[in-house]
Amino acid sequence: MTNNEAIIEASGLRKSYGALEVLKGVDLNLKRGEVVALIGPSGSGKSTLIRCLNMMEQPSGGTIRFRGREIGRKFRDTGDKIGIGTLRRNVGMVFQHFNLFPHKTVLENVTEGPIVVCKTPKEQAEAEARELLAQVGLQDKHAAYPNHLSGGQKQRVAIARALAMKPDVLLLDEVTSALDPELVGEVLTVIRRLADEGMTMAIVTHEMAFAADVSDRVLFLDCGTIAAEGSANEIIRNPSNERLAAFVSRFNH
Ligand code: ADP
Ligand code: MG
Repeated sequence: MTNNEAIIEASGLRKSYGALEVLKGVDLNLKRGEVVALIGPSGSGKSTLIRCLNMMEQPSGGTIRFRGREIGRKFRDTGDKIGIGTLRRNVGMVFQHFNLFPHKTVLENVTEGPIVVCKTPKEQAEAEARELLAQVGLQDKHAAYPNHLSGGQKQRVAIARALAMKPDVLLLDEVTSALDPELVGEVLTVIRRLADEGMTMAIVTHEMAFAADVSDRVLFLDCGTIAAEGSANEIIRNPSNERLAAFVSRFNH
């Protein structure tokens, strides 16, 4: 499903918090239509990496390009540079803890970005939101508030909300980790369908079987570096690297 258009290219990415060096020079490329799974032990820097890619965290070093243009917090949009406002409109994020607006209905959660950020007329934003909610199986929940939804439903709203911005890429950070086990499948099904439709995605997950199944490529992040990278067969199903094998074997698949 991929073509050769680079959506995100991170090169030599570094991030430190005080004396703690969390990312120690990470290279990551994501082409249009590609699904990359990011696996690794807790604390290895997966969230930091994902958050750097849309500048929720300011990298300490290295460069990130979005569709060929270098990203910078203080950059204005020019031919070869892009500021964070434009970046964030085009990069969708979904988090472990949903981060929905509790005082807004499901429909309002999904239309907020298009209406406020993209100035989409309300009627159009609502029509598109209804369509997206139908795609994630929540056509009957427009008027509900997040507190009245299950975790799996909340996460599907969060995915619809991210998609409402028509992003070029979705970054998913452990989106099923906070869910009861019986609700994980309904969220993975939605992500699987997005992958089949050609959505470009970087997915941080501990669901090894899902990662192996959905991804074109798997990156193993360990202590702030990409310690192994390859196909699902090389990285998850038949890991050669000892540390990787030990990590993967902790998950049943
Ligand atoms: P992962 O998502 O792989 O579990 P994280 O990227 O969340 O790992 O964290 C990597 C390391 O960076 C951890 O040691 C964590 O404590 C540290 N860290 C993350 N965010 C911050 C922060 N804002 N300030 C200080 N340390 C942080
Ligand atoms: Mg994390």
